[in-house]
Amino acid sequence: MSRDDRRHGIMRAMRLRRIGQPLVAEDVPIPSPGPGEVLVRVEACAVCRTDLHVVDGDLPDPRLPLIPGHEIVGTVAAVGEGTATHAIGTLVGIPWLGWTCGECDSCRSGQENLCPQAEFTGYTRDGGYAGYAVADARYCFAIHGYRPQAAAPLLCAGLIGYRAWRMAGGGTAGHLGIYGFGAAAHILAQVAIARGQLVYAFTRPGDKQAQRFALRLGAVWAGGSDQRPNTALDAAILFAPVGALVPLALDHVRPGGTVVCGGIHMTDIPAFPYRLLWQERVLRSVANLTRRDGDEFLALAPTVPVRTQTRPYRLEDANTALDDLRAGRLTGAAVLLPGNDG
Ligand SMILES: [Zn+2]
Ligand SMILES: [Zn+2]
Repeated sequence: MSRDDRRHGIMRAMRLRRIGQPLVAEDVPIPSPGPGEVLVRVEACAVCRTDLHVVDGDLPDPRLPLIPGHEIVGTVAAVGEGTATHAIGTLVGIPWLGWTCGECDSCRSGQENLCPQAEFTGYTRDGGYAGYAVADARYCFAIHGYRPQAAAPLLCAGLIGYRAWRMAGGGTAGHLGIYGFGAAAHILAQVAIARGQLVYAFTRPGDKQAQRFALRLGAVWAGGSDQRPNTALDAAILFAPVGALVPLALDHVRPGGTVVCGGIHMTDIPAFPYRLLWQERVLRSVANLTRRDGDEFLALAPTVPVRTQTRPYRLEDANTALDDLRAGRLTGAAVLLPGNDG
C-alpha cells in the first residue's frame, strides 16, 4: 500500500465472501475513523488459528464480507473526532477485543472479555488483512520495544497465551505442560521459562521439528501428545484445538492441578472416566482477553525478553499463510506484511 493509494481512497484487502471459500483480493474504500476511532496503516498482521475457525465456519455469524485478522500492528494515520489517545504516527496494536458495552455485569466486574455485546476484530468487525484498519482507540495498545513483524503475534497468541497462563496459576506451576506448540506456545514458553518454570511441550505425534523447536526455546521435555511425561504436571494449557487432549492432559496433571483450554474452538471432548477429574483437578477455558491482560503482557514481553519467530507473507498470499497454518507447516507465527506490497 503506497501513500498514493490513500490519496485515491482505496486499499487492497483480502476478504472472506463466503464461509469455506478462499479469501478474495479486492480493492475497497479505505475506512474513515469515526468518533473515538483511529485509522491505522497496517504494517503487519499475524495469522491466528481463530482466523481459520472464522474462515471454516466453526464460529457462528461472522460479518460478511469480512476482512479477517486480529493481530494488527500499524501506524496511526488519522484519528476521529474526540480521540484522545494514540497520536498520528505512533505504533499501535489492535487485538481481538474490539469493543465492549462497558455497562453489563461482566464489563463492570472486570470481565469485559465476557461481555455479551462485545465486538471482535476480524470477526464481527473488519480486521487487518488489508492496507488499513479502523479501531476504537480505547482498545488499541501502544507498542514499544518491537518492530511490527515481531510484535504482531503478541497481539493474540501472546495475550491469550498470557491469560491462559494466569488461569493456570501463572508462575506457581513448577511443572507446566503445553499442548500444541505453535505461535501461542512459543511465546508463553519463554515467559514461563524466564520464571524458572519447567516446560513440557506436547506436539502432534511424530512432529520432531516442533519438538526440537520447543527444546531449543528451553523446554525440559518435548514429545508427542501420545507420550506420558516423566513427572506429574502442576498445570497444563491446551492450545491445540483437539478435544481428545483434554482427558490426556487431565491424566497428566497431579491432584489439585489445573487444565486450561486456550482455544476459541475445539473438537468434541470424548467421554472420560470421572477419576481423571477427581481429586480436585480443575478444567476450565479461557475466552478472549481484557485490556488489563494486554497492558500487563505488553509491558512484560520486552523485559523477558520474548522473541517471536515469524514467517513473513505478502498480503495477497494470505490464503497460503492460512493453508500453512492449517497443515502445521509453520514454526512460530505467520505474519502478513501489507505495508510491503505495491
Ligand atoms: Zn458489557
Ligand atoms: Zn487469535
